[in-house]
Amino acid sequence: MASGEGRRHRHDLVPLAALISREMKNEKMEKPTVRYGHAAQSRKGEDYFLIKTDCQRVPGNPSSTFSVFAIFDGHNGNAAAIFTREHLLSHVLSAVPRGLGREEWLQALPRALVAGFVKTDKEFQSRGETSGTTATFVIVDAWTVTVASVGDSRCILDTQGGAVSTLTVDHRLEENVEERERVTASGGEVGRLSIVGGAEIGPLRCWPGGLCLSRSIGDMDVGEFIVPIPYVKQVKLSNAGGRLIIASDGIWDALSSEMAAKSCRGLPAELAARQVVKEALRTRGLKDDTTCIVVDIIPPDNSIQPLPPPKKQNKLRALLFRKRSRDSANKLSKKLSAVGIVEELFEEGSAMLAERLGNDDSAGQTTSGLFTCAVCQVDLAPSEGISVHAGSIFSTSTKPWQGPFLCADCRNKKDAMEGKRPSGVKVA
Ligand SMILES: [Zn+2]
Repeated sequence: MASGEGRRHRHDLVPLAALISREMKNEKMEKPTVRYGHAAQSRKGEDYFLIKTDCQRVPGNPSSTFSVFAIFDGHNGNAAAIFTREHLLSHVLSAVPRGLGREEWLQALPRALVAGFVKTDKEFQSRGETSGTTATFVIVDAWTVTVASVGDSRCILDTQGGAVSTLTVDHRLEENVEERERVTASGGEVGRLSIVGGAEIGPLRCWPGGLCLSRSIGDMDVGEFIVPIPYVKQVKLSNAGGRLIIASDGIWDALSSEMAAKSCRGLPAELAARQVVKEALRTRGLKDDTTCIVVDIIPPDNSIQPLPPPKKQNKLRALLFRKRSRDSANKLSKKLSAVGIVEELFEEGSAMLAERLGNDDSAGQTTSGLFTCAVCQVDLAPSEGISVHAGSIFSTSTKPWQGPFLCADCRNKKDAMEGKRPSGVKVA
């Protein structure tokens, strides 16, 4: 880490005192309290979760504490889920440039999440083990919630007034037409299992591999068009707070988002998580691993947060999100949150790595992108880096020689994900 310090650009260095005073000015609302609960019923032993409430943006500074909650639902074995649980957080954090203030740090998260997911996938695949996993990874920093996910482990948000919204997209071939088209365009075949006699059964799957998901971490025996690039959404809650419910498909195959939220309203987080699992089992029985994490983000003057019974649901749903305009997608809005309205700060689901890593004006300033791979963070010799935009007909950059840069290995991974060349890693 010390060797990286000297490489940083001069304008990245902000004196600590200036950082702290800037943060104090930005913290108009007092920090909320975060309470959480977890419950699970196992059938195959392939669901894993991560709860870490003592992460620090500035090591040693308790006022920079943030929390991470995640669910990993493995398939074809548990190795990918275990590996992702162990490595994803550190890979994401190591992709955030050093020395950022709180706002800049939050702005840098979506790109760091993409890099961390792809790096974890690459590393796991290089071990030569089969199995894959969903990953729904949630960072709670005061009122700002950032969610990144691949697969179908959903994260929902229940806010005051009973409006329920989904902060993830289900990457399932059966329901997600857009993903189906992307997989087909990248060289995958989508179809159902056919049994003797030609009858087709079960959900849509991609071939080779037979996976029902269109995105995951791992799955080296499935085509590279099953990408680890996460859908990312970042929202800022109003000072009324809210409740997150993160769960594997064992819950969502049994309950709609509304049913899950409703089933546990008024209960503290620990009991709420148990109630959601109980409700799913009552509806469908134990057909699959079933894991649920409930996170309450509670205003400082409320010790418990009882969500009132829903009223005027439809009107509130329309008001729930204040949409950011398309061209301000990468900027944090400066507007104050109104009561009950969730501010949408960022949303992007593209599976194209160039779109997710590039075209940010701040890229050259806040990262050491000239010298390190934007995905795996390895140091690059000046002649070694390949621009993420190089040679792409989809490039919207007018300067394809500019960063961010990829090492040869990550560039190869990028082309494989886009169906331009077979992956270098294959099962024998
Ligand atoms: Zn790399």
